[in-house]
Amino acid sequence: MAKKKSKRENVWLECSQCKERNYRTNVSVAEGTPKLSLKKYCKKERKHTAHKIRRK
Ligand SMILES: [Zn+2]
Repeated sequence: MAKKKSKRENVWLECSQCKERNYRTNVSVAEGTPKLSLKKYCKKERKHTAHKIRRK
């Protein structure tokens, strides 16, 4: 089930506006530095904002 070879890291997507951690995802660290921010829907603000990747 869990492949140990895949270099994936669990991260949080944190809203850059209200600092709410809305999403949990995993990024591939093998492909270099992942994107630093993504446009995601913030439930709290009810709009799309930039979400920054936050490592645990
Ligand atoms: Zn927000």
